[in-house]
Amino acid sequence: MLRAISAPTIDHRGPDFATLALDVLAALKPVFGTTGPVVVYPSSGTGAWEAALVNTLSPGDRVLAFETGHFATLWREVATNLGLDVDFVPGDWRHGVDPAAVTEKLRQDPSIKAVCVVHNETSTGVTSRIPEIRAAIDEAEHSALLLVDTVSSLGSVDYRHDEWGVDVTVSCSQKGLLLPPGLGFNAVSEKALRAGGGFAKSYWDWRPILAANERGYFPYTPPTNLLYGLKESLALLNEEGLDNVFARHLRHAKATRAAVRGWGLEVLCLDDREHSPVLTAVLVPDGHDADKIRALILDRFNMSLGTGLGRLAGRVFRIGHLGHFNDVSLAGTLSGVQMGLTIAGLSVDPAGITAALHVLESA
Ligand SMILES: *Cc1c(COP(=O)(O)O)cnc(C)c1O
Repeated sequence: MLRAISAPTIDHRGPDFATLALDVLAALKPVFGTTGPVVVYPSSGTGAWEAALVNTLSPGDRVLAFETGHFATLWREVATNLGLDVDFVPGDWRHGVDPAAVTEKLRQDPSIKAVCVVHNETSTGVTSRIPEIRAAIDEAEHSALLLVDTVSSLGSVDYRHDEWGVDVTVSCSQKGLLLPPGLGFNAVSEKALRAGGGFAKSYWDWRPILAANERGYFPYTPPTNLLYGLKESLALLNEEGLDNVFARHLRHAKATRAAVRGWGLEVLCLDDREHSPVLTAVLVPDGHDADKIRALILDRFNMSLGTGLGRLAGRVFRIGHLGHFNDVSLAGTLSGVQMGLTIAGLSVDPAGITAALHVLESA
């Protein structure tokens, strides 16, 4: 993939570019589970968050969002900075969005224009159940748009933009799509396109991009080399088969939880229906600093674990199993964590690693 990215940058107004762009734009759709358009920006995920909001909403609009973790909190901040009026439902960072709360909130407030949900909260290792949230909006017979952040789930976790009735799916390149940072995505429903949005916008405006995309071009200089990489990463996912990719992540998550529980530690996620297939956040016992353990593991084993973000700082570390990962990498990762915890002076049961290996052996 890096070799693909290093190829010479071609003229983005020439015919070869159009062939590449039309190819990649078509190949992206199945990953989102859509037959509709996917807008590609040269941006981070944060840019794609903003694009989803300014293309569908107007200043002062009421938005419903849920405090599932750090990324939900940051998306709320983007919305608030834009001048949207966000009803931010507090949460404990250990559960996904409660579908019953969605119905209740929407019934109370007919003026809500959009519901924002983070599919996979990277800060907590908790997923929200999008089909149930869709059903909850329908149950309230409410016309709110459903906007979903799939930054850390797309390409690793089963996701269906069309079937689940999502209006805008936000994602970017550097997580499950195996690429360096630099591409932001919005998959867009017809209803979202019609919504239009009253925000002044130019760079983020879907319309000129979609118009130019028809013929394989962009209204401004596209990130050509990342598109080379995207073509390659989509080919990699298709070669393995998306269903196999999803199953692999589920299995790795299960093995990781088996290790954590075997060690006698606690997984942050409290609902068995909501475990993230791509990462596991682990609570460290009182009296221990998760960041000191992380530093020790980095120093001793050159292995970088995820830090506790926001209110979880020092209290959790995160074991990532996102993207291009195999059984042996996971076994090595979990062994490194077990050794690090032991060296840090936690009394972990070494049966943890055995429990994880059993899960990996059994499938
Ligand atoms: C990483 C991440 C983002 C932020 O993406 P940036 O590319 O850093 O702007 C947003 N949402 C989730 C769930 C993420 O994991």
